[in-house]
Amino acid sequence: MNSLSAGWVIPADGAPIRDGRVTWEDGRVVDVSPGRGERHYENAIILPGLVNAHSHLEYAVYAGFGDGEPFGQWMGTHITRKRALDFDDMVAIACRGAADCLTAGITTTADYSFSGAAAVAAARLGLRAIVYLEVFGSDPAGAASQLAQKQEAAGSSPLVTLGVSPHAPFTCSIAVYEWALSLGLPVGTHLAESANENDWLESGAGPLAANAAILVPPTGKRAVQTLESVLGPTLLCAHCVEVDDTDVALLAELDVPVAHCPRSNALLGCGVAPLADFLAADMRVGLGTDSPASTPSFDLWEEMRAAIYASRGRERRPDSLSAAAALELATAGAARALDLTGEVGVLAPGARADITVLSIAGSPYDPVEDPIVAAVFGGSPDRILETIVDGTTRYRQGETSWHEVHSTASTARARMLA
Ligand SMILES: [Zn+2]
Repeated sequence: MNSLSAGWVIPADGAPIRDGRVTWEDGRVVDVSPGRGERHYENAIILPGLVNAHSHLEYAVYAGFGDGEPFGQWMGTHITRKRALDFDDMVAIACRGAADCLTAGITTTADYSFSGAAAVAAARLGLRAIVYLEVFGSDPAGAASQLAQKQEAAGSSPLVTLGVSPHAPFTCSIAVYEWALSLGLPVGTHLAESANENDWLESGAGPLAANAAILVPPTGKRAVQTLESVLGPTLLCAHCVEVDDTDVALLAELDVPVAHCPRSNALLGCGVAPLADFLAADMRVGLGTDSPASTPSFDLWEEMRAAIYASRGRERRPDSLSAAAALELATAGAARALDLTGEVGVLAPGARADITVLSIAGSPYDPVEDPIVAAVFGGSPDRILETIVDGTTRYRQGETSWHEVHSTASTARARMLA
């Protein structure tokens, strides 16, 4: 039996516990209650490991590429630079991404993977992941062969579940979505991320037309309507920014899980998704960092705050997203969106022992008045003291360094800049 205690424990499915302790065995939580553990952190908060609902570990060193370019052009910049990489480079970069996630207190990520390298990296660093292997095109047989090749590259690991990701409605046909949904694997896509996407789908216009050779033909409909026949509870949809009231009603009615990525959407100039509408419709929503291709970091703390800024600013109401609601989007809410309810995103008997310890020492929230407010507004990767996945410590501040992971990933970035 292992145990850890701190000034506060936020179990996520109940009230915070003062002077709390988490006990676990064989990778599962056994008990969460007041008490002192075999190891104790003063001035700290124990939380469920954070659950990232959308990432691309393979883009961990793409920071700043095409900054300020319109969406279609930005995508072209990334496609061109990615051609400089081989699979080993992609693994090296994805390892950097997995290390960054663990450093930020993320223990599970839903990752859309171009090559399968993200699965190798997550397994190597001990990050729990659903890795949705990306497929492109109009032809299901072509997509099947892309998937088979990427599955082989991805390998297998107890912490990693492989899924499939038809990339987006403008790069994949409905037949490819139907094929993907027939496999019985987790399925994720990008949906309604930008106005450029709707422009292409509705009329073949806009900046995406420059990449017409790799796109499917326009459908004459907006993105959400384009996918209407395949939307459902097992298709995770990232972004959903360019949605109107009819689209939101449809997404809600079909119980479509959404990954909300406010920093990525803002930095790419795509807009602000109507999170308050999603939540009012009782939709399953998780928060996603996306990747340094479009955001500065895999920092889900900053993402929680961005979600709050964006929602309160958009709705002009300070109660449109509370600190507790933001934390839920990064823990139990994300778990619900990923169909991992009760497994991750919560500290309760039977759940996976995925645990994050956050220091509050010296922060403006010390001494703690409300531990959830302190965590959400005061949390950051440099305050993470320890990250535990499946009962095993994968990161400990001051002890885990990942020097080689960082330098190998930097070499791959240099290749893209050459
Ligand atoms: Zn993405």
